[in-house]
Amino acid sequence: MKRRSFIKSALAAGISFPFLAKDGYAGIGGKASGPLVISSANGLRATEKAMGMIKNGRDALDAVIAGVNIIEEDPTDHSVGYGGLPNEEGVVELDSCVMHGPTHNAGSVAALRNIKNPSKVARLVMERTDHELLVGKGALRFARAHGFKEEELLTDEARKIWLHWKETLNKKDDWFPEDNPDIPKNFKELFKTTGTISCLGIDLNGNISGVTTTSGLAFKIPGRVGDSPIIGAGLYVDNEVGACGSTGRGEENLKNLSCFLTVELMRNGYSPQEACMETVKRIVHHAKIPSLLNEKGQPNFNVRFYAVNRKGEYGSAAVYGPTKFALHDGKENKIYKGKGYLKR
Ligand code: ASP
Repeated sequence: MKRRSFIKSALAAGISFPFLAKDGYAGIGGKASGPLVISSANGLRATEKAMGMIKNGRDALDAVIAGVNIIEEDPTDHSVGYGGLPNEEGVVELDSCVMHGPTHNAGSVAALRNIKNPSKVARLVMERTDHELLVGKGALRFARAHGFKEEELLTDEARKIWLHWKETLNKKDDWFPEDNPDIPKNFKELFKTTGTISCLGIDLNGNISGVTTTSGLAFKIPGRVGDSPIIGAGLYVDNEVGACGSTGRGEENLKNLSCFLTVELMRNGYSPQEACMETVKRIVHHAKIPSLLNEKGQPNFNVRFYAVNRKGEYGSAAVYGPTKFALHDGKENKIYKGKGYLKR
């Protein structure tokens, strides 16, 4: 048996998946002929910016960080940076990491308050310290030392969403919701919000880098750290193989070290598309505790993956699809559909 099919059947052994989406496993995926930038669906402006810089000869890491900075600074994206939804106490706490393929170096910050661009701070952790991860007050002091300006990250809109969440949590407490709350119409969607931007790039030298940045799960317990600042969970790059980034329920990526797994699958011959889907299957298989399952016994959460390999092949998959991702293949910058593994 070939090495690759051996690994595939070994991985699949004993696992049954009764809820497989009809159109199944293989999903989509594609190949770019030169530089490439892929990101979560909220990153179309990030992929545009990053590709522009890559075409001007910039390193993929410079490019993807500049790309996600646009989303970090956008008050209308409630899942990242400024305007992100806060923790349960109404305070925005940000997580981010960066990974540079050519040097296999990385930096991260977690539970960082009051700094708009955690990805820039993560990069400085990588370049200007001997450490990989700084958290909370230490991360903030480090950012201050590097001249970052502290600012209020909770926008009025995000505050109103948080307040409405708080006021409608429990009918018996002392907080009453407004009769006609002045909150966005899509409040119900935002209510349980997840979201993040993860962006991977291949530059003109064929080098790969990535970044993930987020405000994490809305209304989280203060101090909660998700997958986004954890190398191997919400991002992983191996310049000789490829890269993977993820969005969605971070706890599952922490327990499955999902992005590392995806890159290792590619190392063993899986295409980016196959690797993303195999990782999704692993997560679904491991979702056993009742709090993660709906009445049908399926996961009650979603996780999405974006991956590229050295050849410029790319793919994306999610627990539930269809999912979307942004891709600039050097010619066109647009949103593509990725495959879901299960049907709701
Ligand atoms: N992965 C992020 C986290 O768990 C949230 C998300 O992407 O929705 O913090």
